[in-house]
Amino acid sequence: MYQRSWVEIDIDVIKSNLFIYRNNIDICEIMAVVKADAYGHGAQRIAKTLMECGVKFFGVSNLDEALELRAAGITGEILVLGYTPVSYAKVLYENNITQTVISEQYAEELKRYGIRNKVHFAIDTGMHRIGLDASNPVGCEQVIRTYAEHFEVTGVFTHLCVADCPEEQGFTEKQIAEFKTVVERVKKLDIAFVHCMNSAGGLWCAKYGNLARLGIILYGLKPNYENILPKAIRPALTWKSVVSMVKHIKQGDTVGYGRSYRAEKDIVVATIPTGYADGYRRELSNKGFVIVKGCKASIIGKICMDQFMIDVTGIKDVNMGDEVILLGADSNGNTITADDMADMIETIGYEILCGISKRVPRKYICKSNISEE
Ligand SMILES: *Cc1c(COP(=O)(O)O)cnc(C)c1O
Repeated sequence: MYQRSWVEIDIDVIKSNLFIYRNNIDICEIMAVVKADAYGHGAQRIAKTLMECGVKFFGVSNLDEALELRAAGITGEILVLGYTPVSYAKVLYENNITQTVISEQYAEELKRYGIRNKVHFAIDTGMHRIGLDASNPVGCEQVIRTYAEHFEVTGVFTHLCVADCPEEQGFTEKQIAEFKTVVERVKKLDIAFVHCMNSAGGLWCAKYGNLARLGIILYGLKPNYENILPKAIRPALTWKSVVSMVKHIKQGDTVGYGRSYRAEKDIVVATIPTGYADGYRRELSNKGFVIVKGCKASIIGKICMDQFMIDVTGIKDVNMGDEVILLGADSNGNTITADDMADMIETIGYEILCGISKRVPRKYICKSNISEE
């Protein structure tokens, strides 16, 4: 296995994050949200690991992701959290995949296929993305009752949009209260699963429901950069690359496309064979840093498609082939998380993780056995 740019995922950290979270909300079953290829960690491998740890529910964003899990032998309940064209009613049914009913219109059109699909009803309590309007609980009740005759309704849920912001607690409480009102009205239908918690909700909100949809914290990142995670929650993913070349440049020389970096003195430059086609964000040009030989080294010049340059002046013995940490920590206490990187370029850790492209191989570490997939 040659090394250019790769990701190492520590399976033991994923397990430990799950256990820590589970202890925090022991009233609930956990639905592991493994959409977007498990936030870039590899959905099949992560789902298998979690299934071995007793997780029986998986959340995905679309039908393809659901089928990918079935192909990997995942046997639990798989919920598509978003839109599937209704014409796939039969595929959903045949693969025992649960579909979210996102609106009354969706329910009506899905019903026309005459298939008793497993569904969860989404309730909109203020995010205004998908779901039946919770401000009309009577209407919600009517719709759910009507379609409960046509579908197997196994769940009802809502999504919290500011559960990660303590100063917005009032809004979150209002969302949960409105959701409760709807749930109470359909109590007689004995709907098995009631859920509203995401990672943030499960940690910091009044807990409600019997299932929590756990995403980002499973992977060890924060819903919001300001959040303080429970102790021992750690990022599972490390992104590494290598030094491909080292050179000395003179004061006044420039580096990279557009000559956006100019050396103020003679410096030593190292090239890293990772670029924005790998998902290493171009906004990090002249901004970000990497960890090499126990030191932080600044990015200089623009990130290219497949390479970028760093300033290694004063760092000893930097050579072709040396390992570089793009995301992760070294034994010297240097660290850069996806959350730190995201904060530098005004996005969120979620986007950094999902953005690590297919070109970057994922390697799994489990009790120090490394395997490639
Ligand atoms: C993505 C998603 C989640 C997981 O959110 P995290 O913040 O990653 O825990 C939960 N529920 C729904 C509906 C989602 O789309």
